[in-house]
Amino acid sequence: MKLNSLELCSDFTDTLPGDTDSKNYPRQVYKSVWSKTEPTPASAPTLVSHIPELTQALGIDTTDPGAASFFTGSTLANNSLPYSMRYGGHQFGNWAGQLGDGRAISLGEMLDHDKQHWTLQLKGAGPTPYSRQGDGYAVIRSSIREYMCAEAVHHLGIPTTRSLTLCTTGETIARDVFYDGNVTMEQGAIVCRAAQSFIRFGNFEIHAASDETDLLKTLADYVIRRDFPHLGAPGPEVYQQWFREILNATASTVAHWQRVGFVHAVMNTDNMSILGHTIDYGPYGWLEEYDPRWTPNYVDNSMRRYSYGNQPEIALWNLYRLANALIPLFDATEPLEEVLGEYRSTFDDTWNNMLANKLGLKNYQPEDKELFDALWPTLSLTGTDFTIFFRQLSIITPEMDKAAVRSILLPAFYKEEEYNGEVEAGFISWLTRWQQRVRNEDANARKAKMQATNPKYVLRNYLALNAIEAAENGDFSVMEKIMQVLRNPYDEQPEADNYAVRRPDWATSKPGCTMLTCSS
Ligand code: AMP
Ligand code: MG
Repeated sequence: MKLNSLELCSDFTDTLPGDTDSKNYPRQVYKSVWSKTEPTPASAPTLVSHIPELTQALGIDTTDPGAASFFTGSTLANNSLPYSMRYGGHQFGNWAGQLGDGRAISLGEMLDHDKQHWTLQLKGAGPTPYSRQGDGYAVIRSSIREYMCAEAVHHLGIPTTRSLTLCTTGETIARDVFYDGNVTMEQGAIVCRAAQSFIRFGNFEIHAASDETDLLKTLADYVIRRDFPHLGAPGPEVYQQWFREILNATASTVAHWQRVGFVHAVMNTDNMSILGHTIDYGPYGWLEEYDPRWTPNYVDNSMRRYSYGNQPEIALWNLYRLANALIPLFDATEPLEEVLGEYRSTFDDTWNNMLANKLGLKNYQPEDKELFDALWPTLSLTGTDFTIFFRQLSIITPEMDKAAVRSILLPAFYKEEEYNGEVEAGFISWLTRWQQRVRNEDANARKAKMQATNPKYVLRNYLALNAIEAAENGDFSVMEKIMQVLRNPYDEQPEADNYAVRRPDWATSKPGCTMLTCSS
């Protein structure tokens, strides 16, 4: 398909009310779901990477000479109506009013081979009516982080928006990464990402906060018809079941994050997908030393609101904000409260089953709770790499003695010399219980299950930084190599063993590895 003759469909803009002002300047927008927004053409668009699996499914020819121009928004498809979305959100616990797509512009929708809808969205293609103080652009650093992570999360089997293409723009952009007055000049880039829907909790919150009940209902009915068609025609009971499905999907995605040690780090309600997908990759990270209070987000260092251990409860807090916004769809609040009341047991059931899989138990039994609860303090006895520990556990057998266990577990410890005395005794005490628990289970089946649940390869921040530093010097091969490994995160890839080791010492206190910000 030639990109310059591409016809994108525009169900979203055809169906939902848009802003009557089509000029592009920062403002408060009312009574609209979206605003027409033309991308700003790039000076030297270059397509540097794409995801073949997805471009092929969409029938996109990335060798088309117009591809870079298309995927930076410099040339638009026929009859294109690019737009930015209006939404609000609770940021770090406070209502922040109108936010909206400040640096994202949707181009329209395409169907893949299976007739599934995908909205294509450019991140960093210039200012929009929602840019507020921002410039609407994105740099190589933040774009690579989004581009790589969405694919890594997808291949881990976790619902997420996808990456489609990565382009550089030729622009130079000023960024104050740690908000301390140290401005650096960085190279511009644009990720084109794709999703079934980019609608967030905050899309509903803004209409509720602006007393736009008609729009709230129009948007809810649109989302139900499009993305929850099995629920049938919208009405009070369907609204309740819809909210239940959002809650279940959100609980499931967050349980998956806990399973792989992923910390989103900016769980504001504007970053919560109505489909429960992972969306908006900023200062995320993967747990290295197990610590429930860990977050890589520098600006959240004192509150730790979005730390690893808080994620399940924050998801519920966010669901309460969504429920509040949806009240006008109901005659009473009880249907929403009833569903919210189900969250903890829904999450716990999902999580206990996942943890049982992580530990190779055939099925979860309530007595296992003690074994689970005793694991976390054990991992905290010394700096224990979350990913390596669980992966190595899969090769420990019930018969192994202390010495055999030691040689398998040592690669997980940041200070190997601390695995002695009381620390070692603590691990052995927990492992003995675990060995007893799995003794009667089929060894091969257990190992296979554990390896399918505990990834060997995750996108450690230092790996992302290696990819970024090479790309900033024009070499995208480091990024491609890492992404190739992360396509099969549960497989043993002997030639890629160096991607499955502890964070190296040089990265321990390096900005961009352990300390990140939302700087885009
Ligand atoms: P985030 O924390 O990345 O999800 O962004 C929060 C809000 O800030 C969203 O409304 C973004 O669109 C907006 N934003 C972030 N970076 C920029 C930027 N460079 N220019 C304009 N708006 C931005
Ligand atoms: Mg966001």
